[in-house]
Amino acid sequence: MRKKIVAGNWKMNQDYQSGLSLFSEVVNMVSDEITGDQLVIVCSPFIHLNSLVQLKKAGVNVFIGAQNCHQEESGAYTGEISAQMLKSAGVEYVILGHSERRQYFEESDELLSKKVNTALKNGLKPIFCIGETLTERNASIHFDVVKAQLEKGLFHLSAEEFSSIILAYEPVWAIGTGLTATPEQAQEIHAFIRKIIAEKYGQQVADDTTILYGGSCNPKNANDLFSQADIDGGLIGGASLKSRDFTDIIKALN
Ligand code: PGA
Repeated sequence: MRKKIVAGNWKMNQDYQSGLSLFSEVVNMVSDEITGDQLVIVCSPFIHLNSLVQLKKAGVNVFIGAQNCHQEESGAYTGEISAQMLKSAGVEYVILGHSERRQYFEESDELLSKKVNTALKNGLKPIFCIGETLTERNASIHFDVVKAQLEKGLFHLSAEEFSSIILAYEPVWAIGTGLTATPEQAQEIHAFIRKIIAEKYGQQVADDTTILYGGSCNPKNANDLFSQADIDGGLIGGASLKSRDFTDIIKALN
């Protein structure tokens, strides 16, 4: 049975103290809400990570993720953070392939496949993001785009390695724009993604893969999105910065 997950992506927001306060509020508010097959993952900037690991509560399914890692193991890469460093600080997840990294930092499918390998090798679970731009959707090539991102970024993995991946479908036109894919639009592409995975790795692996929706998910639309058959939760940007909104989205998993 696949897990239901809500992951928060703080992006480049929250100074050190406010990030710690936000996280503590969220943990307190959701402690009694999260059931056994549900996970909450908070992906903060690097500076918060180790402190958040310390603030986690035993027995509460809240885990910590980074928003990036370097593709090399270690070495002369000034300013970079390795997967091994993250793991050693108690971090368990890492977002890879976010459209902002693809777009602003020119991260290619090839580079991302290397990052995935390095993350897995060091025991981190990738939250791997895929999704089309508005131009691509208007040209009706969104299925092809998403399929190519999956194949180039992930399909070199063995079935066992692939089982550590969480996918996030994030249409670029919905990220931070207030525009959300309709539940039907999102379900259609989530079902397609699961079908592609089944063709590559078999139905069991496909059925066990958590596929999150991301893009202007909020307390109002989370219920309708999460009730779709192939939508297993959300990757939340803006609304993860408000403890009340983030908690309400987590409650929508039930
Ligand atoms: P948003 O961001 O919820 O602010 O649209 C989602 C994301 O970028 O992961």
